Amino acid sequence: MVTTHNLGFPRIGAKRELKFALENYWKGDVTLDQLAETGAQLRQRHWQNQSALDLVPVGDFSFYDQVLDMSFLLGNIPDRVRHLDGNTLDNYFRVARGRSAQDSSCSCVHAGEMTKWFDTNYHYIVPELSAETEFSLDASRLLAQLAQARQLKVSAKPVIIGPLTYLWLGKTRDASDKLALLPRLLPAYITLLNQLAEQGCEWVQIDEPILVTELDASWQQAFIAAYDALQAGSAKLLLATYFGQLKDNLPLLCKLPVQGIHIDAINGQDEIGQLIQQLPADTVLSLGVINGRNIWKTDLHATLEWLEPVHRLLQTRLWIAPSCSLLHVPVDLSSEQKLDSRIQYWLAFALQKLDELQILAKALNNGRVSVQEELIANHVAIERRRTSSLVHNPAVKAAIAKIDATLGKRNSAYEQRAIKQSALLKLPDYPTTTIGSFPQTTEIRQARNQFRLGNLDEVAYKALMQNEIARCVREQEALGLDVFVHGEAERNDMVEYFGEQLEGYAFSQFGWVQSYGSRCVKPPILFGDISRPKAMTVEWIKYAQSLTDKPMKGMLTGPVTILNWSFVRDDQPRSVSCYQLALAIREEVLDLEQAGVRVIQIDEAALREGLPLRRSQWSEYLQWAVESFRITANGVQDETQIHTHMCYSEFNDIIASIANMDADVITIETSRSAMELLDAFDDFNYPNQIGPGVYDIHSPNIPNQEHIVQLMRKAAERIPAQRLWVNPDCGLKTRAWEEVIPALKNMVAAARVLRAAA
Ligand code: GLN
Ligand code: ZN
Repeated sequence: MVTTHNLGFPRIGAKRELKFALENYWKGDVTLDQLAETGAQLRQRHWQNQSALDLVPVGDFSFYDQVLDMSFLLGNIPDRVRHLDGNTLDNYFRVARGRSAQDSSCSCVHAGEMTKWFDTNYHYIVPELSAETEFSLDASRLLAQLAQARQLKVSAKPVIIGPLTYLWLGKTRDASDKLALLPRLLPAYITLLNQLAEQGCEWVQIDEPILVTELDASWQQAFIAAYDALQAGSAKLLLATYFGQLKDNLPLLCKLPVQGIHIDAINGQDEIGQLIQQLPADTVLSLGVINGRNIWKTDLHATLEWLEPVHRLLQTRLWIAPSCSLLHVPVDLSSEQKLDSRIQYWLAFALQKLDELQILAKALNNGRVSVQEELIANHVAIERRRTSSLVHNPAVKAAIAKIDATLGKRNSAYEQRAIKQSALLKLPDYPTTTIGSFPQTTEIRQARNQFRLGNLDEVAYKALMQNEIARCVREQEALGLDVFVHGEAERNDMVEYFGEQLEGYAFSQFGWVQSYGSRCVKPPILFGDISRPKAMTVEWIKYAQSLTDKPMKGMLTGPVTILNWSFVRDDQPRSVSCYQLALAIREEVLDLEQAGVRVIQIDEAALREGLPLRRSQWSEYLQWAVESFRITANGVQDETQIHTHMCYSEFNDIIASIANMDADVITIETSRSAMELLDAFDDFNYPNQIGPGVYDIHSPNIPNQEHIVQLMRKAAERIPAQRLWVNPDCGLKTRAWEEVIPALKNMVAAARVLRAAA
């Protein structure tokens, strides 16, 4: 018999119940007990949802983040919250978000740093480490969840993050060696494993996803030392890896003294043969056969074709599961009421993925005939999708086949373009601009909602949005900015807005995925060949331009960002979907140019986050990502100035690719790094223009003029002044007008000081 299990379940709730409970607790509208009760109910419901499994994850539920849970479990709590009042959960929220419900309006302590969990869009709170860090186990949270599970007769498999991955995720404040903490950390793990075994847990899932990344010798050695030590604990360990292939960590993994390993068989199917050869004869091999990162139905026939022989070989040593925690997919497809039913038929969210797992298990255990009907239904869905005219558009495929190097190349080199652009745009030194959005006021959101609901007709809606645009233009005139934007009032989201207007995209109503804490995103579903039926932004930009003589920036989201923030197809390489998006947005760029727009910004906020986990695969990604951007941007005349924007501050390792995009101007996030990140551009002799963000739009603080002048002087030590722009770090949509006006006033005044001194 094959054993079925799951690595983790989405905890936010099918209707985002946890989100609302958390936010109400933080507002003071519900009590701690009520919040705890919501948590308990969600856990109970989710365990019921998983009751067909042989082993059900426990401890995957979190009120904010599973990595922060681990920090608290290990007693690695930042000093700044240790002595604050209130209960543990309040201190936990202080680390997560800078304050708890108890701290009402004040921001008491600074929140822990947040960063992306591997190559997903989930963000975790970075463990804070130093040479002094001590660990002391406090398993009460996990044990309480286990007690609840036992009461409900759940066949529980506790889930924890392994010691190496925990350290790897952490950051040291004092540049000390994280690995040196391992001997101090292991006793806490051993005690924990013993406590879990005492509670009757036969198996413990210990996650070490860093085994799919490139590890140097010291980390590989540390794995051996750590797992040798953990043998002392009395629970059986299922060491779980996911998100990629093991590659040269495979022999290492096979040597570790654990009772089972889990691998991501979606990415690592080719490694199964080697694993079977190298694993000790009694080690359990758990295969992640259902993709935990996308929303497509699994091709069950194709899976059984390769899985059945593996089962015959391994028999009871074979376990099956989703490839990774289902945290990264929405909960329940059957909630969806508005999806095109043909497309809905091709999809599977968490619950449907668990059903698929069950069908596979039955087919393995009792033969395919025992699930004949289910297999036929699955086959029909897979075939319909494979041959659907909704998915396949011959014209798009023909256009992709015709892509060649000329498409991504500007007519002239940057130097010649810059001369023509400056003759046309006549901008002063240190030109000022903003990144695109202006405050998204309540009125704007209401108007958009009413329009969506059909309570506001198109004419009235358009008039309201034009009003907003006019307001933005007026404010920018008054401020004296040099290059204007229309303010993006009509956009709900920088990806959804474009997805909704492109063929090949679908939108769910409840397809929420946790991004961090109570925040969720609803990634659009890229299901088919992408085309653009008609211009998407031209009317708005033309209207905005008609109100002013200053250059108005056309504002678009780039193909790489649209791709990276969507659920994408699994029936073609990501690169092909990206090229399709590139061709569609290119048409928009050319239409904007045709309409007389002289400056066009193409945002690539998410270019960096698409980088593969392994560095050895970076160049391939960067090659097609940069080429996609170039195809989008570079069909314009020399006179048209292309901007791009990236809101992050790490460029060292990708600077050559950024330069290769050949945008005339790039605006980036720099204010918090005091312009030091420009060193990367300086060292590389980055040839084009740069707008280093001069203030952090995430903070309500008004930047002061003198500070901006100083920052720009620092910038000018690295980049010639003639190639510098002055702008904020990112768009202003989350700020209020009362914050934006004084901030931009100071920014414009700073630019004037700089010009006068030049
Ligand atoms: N143009 C977008 C805006 O200003 C850019 C947002 C982003 O980079 N995340 O809102
Ligand atoms: Zn940004």
